[in-house]
Amino acid sequence: MWCAFSLHDFNSIKEQIRQRVDLVELVSEHVALTRRGSDFWGPCPFHKEKAPSFHVVPDKEMFHCFGCKVGGDVFKFVQLIEGVPFGEAVRMLADRAGVELAHRSRGDASGPGRVDIGRVNAWAAEFYRRQLLHPERGRDVRAYLARRAVSEETSQRFGLGLALDDGSGLRQAARLAGHSEALLAAAGLLRSNERGSYDTFRHRLIFPIRDTTRRVIGFGGRTLGDAQAKYLNTAQNQLFDKSRTLYGIDLARAEIAASGRAIIVEGYTDCMACHQAGFRETVATLGTAMTEAHVDLLRRYGQEIILVFDSDAAGATAAERALSVALRYGLSVRLAFVPQGKDPCEFLKAAGPEAFAGVLNSAGEALRFVWDRTQERFKAETGDAGRRRAVLEFTGLVSGLAQAGAVDAIQKGLIANQVAKLLDLPGEEVHRLLGGRRHSPGRGGDPVPRPQEPPCGGPTAEQAALTWMLEVLLNEPGLYGTVREVFDPQRFADPGLRRIASGVVALAERLGEFTLAELLSHFTDPADAQRITELHIRGTERANWDATLAGAAACLKQVAAVREAAAWGRNGQPADGCHGEASEEASTSARLRAIQQASHAFAHFAPRSEQSGARELTP
Ligand SMILES: [Zn+2]
Repeated sequence: MWCAFSLHDFNSIKEQIRQRVDLVELVSEHVALTRRGSDFWGPCPFHKEKAPSFHVVPDKEMFHCFGCKVGGDVFKFVQLIEGVPFGEAVRMLADRAGVELAHRSRGDASGPGRVDIGRVNAWAAEFYRRQLLHPERGRDVRAYLARRAVSEETSQRFGLGLALDDGSGLRQAARLAGHSEALLAAAGLLRSNERGSYDTFRHRLIFPIRDTTRRVIGFGGRTLGDAQAKYLNTAQNQLFDKSRTLYGIDLARAEIAASGRAIIVEGYTDCMACHQAGFRETVATLGTAMTEAHVDLLRRYGQEIILVFDSDAAGATAAERALSVALRYGLSVRLAFVPQGKDPCEFLKAAGPEAFAGVLNSAGEALRFVWDRTQERFKAETGDAGRRRAVLEFTGLVSGLAQAGAVDAIQKGLIANQVAKLLDLPGEEVHRLLGGRRHSPGRGGDPVPRPQEPPCGGPTAEQAALTWMLEVLLNEPGLYGTVREVFDPQRFADPGLRRIASGVVALAERLGEFTLAELLSHFTDPADAQRITELHIRGTERANWDATLAGAAACLKQVAAVREAAAWGRNGQPADGCHGEASEEASTSARLRAIQQASHAFAHFAPRSEQSGARELTP
């Protein structure tokens, strides 16, 4: 396709695109970026991570990720994020920048690409919109929208449209506009049978579905008559995949980045109603359960997901499903249930935005919800046996969910910590249950096995957490005060690291802040100096220092708490000679009871009302 250009033309086109496309703006459509110095940082869209190691350098018009090492210019970014070859990336960017490319040569065997489908979709969305706004043709449907309390502004923001029931309006208009039937078919706008081709959407209210870049990637259509399918979506094509798509993400992403949370509802009208009521961080799945791709999209903008359901029953399966994908990304998942089995749209109309804010504020942790349901199932069994079986079942489930994807050691430690709080059990116990045990609800009489390894992913995670801290402190010694409590150089297994950490602590205690040179002056062995420099560089690359320290500190606290619990547990064991199953079980039961009695601080899990109560409503 590029042989039509001379190399000179091509370079000049690339240069024009580069000048007109702002890389930061482009990347921001896919990832929430924050400024740090002259660069912009955010979570990497190309690999799973929590601490941002992805950055954009505007001066150089480059991006780079310290985590997965990808990097490049604006063309490379589009290639990677869209999953397209270089030529297609150039076309997409030319389109965006308004740079004219010579037309694709006729008879190109590859057929319409993503750019072509995006263009014809944009045209179709305008066509449908014109039908809705047409004084006569759209009158009834506009009245219908008004009855359903959809404002003009909402209709406009979401670009609602109308497909008439003639079945050929779009096809005819497309012919006049010069769009081929092949292209319409590739975009899913046209279907054909033995009698010829016809419009896919007939007599339907049209919801254009846009991606984060506001490109129209597909359509949803709600029947206005008595068609069998109440809703019809564009079939999967090169541009549209409903399992990766969230309706409203184009309008919600900035708000999700600002508030840190995403509200997820189940339908187009629910999503619109929420936006209209001021909950502009709302998106909707397109009739599918929460997928990993959805979570991967959302974690680039926020850290919390609130799933809204109209009943407990619907919530149950969805909660497990959402947890299984969200746990891997370290996102918090909460569940909100709209009272009286209403959907959000009906509820907002009946009760108003403040009541809906109340529903969101009362959303509970998905992990707790799953635990409550598990307990419920074993309620009939009295005493410890029922609880123990519930604990085994629940930890088996969580461990299965966590293991289904790659969860790093620190994340595992944090999950174990959450579960320990939830179950009101020592972290040691929970970590062991999460670590090794498979799902075994049937074997209620099983003794809880003995501890095998420390929590938080074992010694490796403890050492990793300590090393991360050291790397950060070498860059920002001023942060030492925030981790003084847990950063004990003696915890390093490696003698070299122990020496360096001791040096850091000594200087930080004495001076507060110090320079790398000051630290190096205390080390005479070149190997130590080399190591310090390496650690320092790794720390620089780690970049998100506060978050790294907080995560590592949580992990170390967990380890310490568990060591204490383990020591206490050993002291609580019966005298020697009692290693039989019965006595171990008895001792575990006794400990469970003792913990239940002793702990008045049952760590309730979701005390977030202050945080979410502060939200402002725009009625
Ligand atoms: Zn990356």
